[in-house]
Amino acid sequence: MAIIPFDDRDGWIWYDGKLVPWRSAQAHVLTHALHYASCVFEGERVYGGRIFKLREHSQRLINSGHILGFEVPYSLAEIEAASNEVVRAQGISDGYVRPIAWRGAEQMGVAAQLTKIHLAIAVWEWPAYFSPDAKMKGIRMCWAKWARPAPHTAPTQAKAAGLYMICTLCKHDAEAAGYDDALMLDWRGQLAEGTGANIFLVIDGELHTPAPDCFLDGITRQTVIALARARQLKIVERAIMPDELAKAQEVFVTGTAAEVTPVSEIGQYRFTPGRVCKMLMDDFDRIAKNAQAASAA
Ligand code: PMP
Repeated sequence: MAIIPFDDRDGWIWYDGKLVPWRSAQAHVLTHALHYASCVFEGERVYGGRIFKLREHSQRLINSGHILGFEVPYSLAEIEAASNEVVRAQGISDGYVRPIAWRGAEQMGVAAQLTKIHLAIAVWEWPAYFSPDAKMKGIRMCWAKWARPAPHTAPTQAKAAGLYMICTLCKHDAEAAGYDDALMLDWRGQLAEGTGANIFLVIDGELHTPAPDCFLDGITRQTVIALARARQLKIVERAIMPDELAKAQEVFVTGTAAEVTPVSEIGQYRFTPGRVCKMLMDDFDRIAKNAQAASAA
C-alpha cells in the first residue's frame, strides 16, 4: 500500500487563527515542543459531517494545556468553530480531527515561559474500516514492556505528547511480534490501558474497568459507561490485577480511534466477543451517528 505522507497532501489546515494550504502548515526545527514535548493534542471523529463530542474534546485540550502550564490562546467556542470550519473546508463526512497546541521557538532550553502557544487543527478522511462483523473477531494483544507512570511521575491526566513515547515503543513491539496492540500495566502492576484505548472486562454480566487514576479517562470510556448504565449493567471502576482476566468472559477496548473493539486475546488469556460487546458496539454506533442522542449520552 502506497503511503501518502501527512505533510504532502491537498487541502487546508487551520493554523493560528486561519486556514492555510495543507503543505505550508509548518513549524521550525527549533520549536520547543519538538525538543521538550511541550505539546498537547486531541483525536476526534467526524461521523456524517459532525464532530462527535466536540465540546468534551475541546475542553480536554484546554485542560491538558493548563496541566502543562500554558493557556491555549483561543476560547472553547473559538476552538469548536475552528474545528467545524476545517471539517467544512476539507469537505469531510467521515474522518479524523487532530487539534494540537504547542510551545513555539522563542526560547530553547528547559525553561519556556516566553514561548508563543500555537494551535493547529487538521482533518482527514477516515471511513469506517471494519464492518461490525469483522470487528467482532476481536483484536490480539500482548503484554507491554513499559508501565504507565505514576501520577506523581508524569502529568498523566493530560493528553500530552510526551506520554506517548512509551506507547509507540509498546505498539512497535506488539506489531513486530504479530499482535494488534499491547496492554500496559500501571506502576503498581494493575491493568491500565492499551497504547491508545481504555479497557473493559465483562465478568458475570458486570462491567469492570480500571479506575482512571494514572491514565486518560477517555471520552469514549465515559460514553460507554453511560450507555452501559442505560442498559442497567452494573459498572465497577476499581483496581484490577492481571490474573483477574481469567474471570472475564468478554473484554473490549474503547477510544476515539478504536470506538468499541472486542479483544480475543491478551497474553495467556482468551475471550470470546459476545452479547455485551455487540450490544455496546451497536449502541455506540447508534449515538455516534445520531446528533440528538449523542448529546444526551
Ligand atoms: N488512552 C490513551 C493512551 C489514548 O491515547 C486514548 C485516545 N485518546 C484513550 C485512552 C481513549 O481516549 P478517548 O476515548 O478520549 O479517545
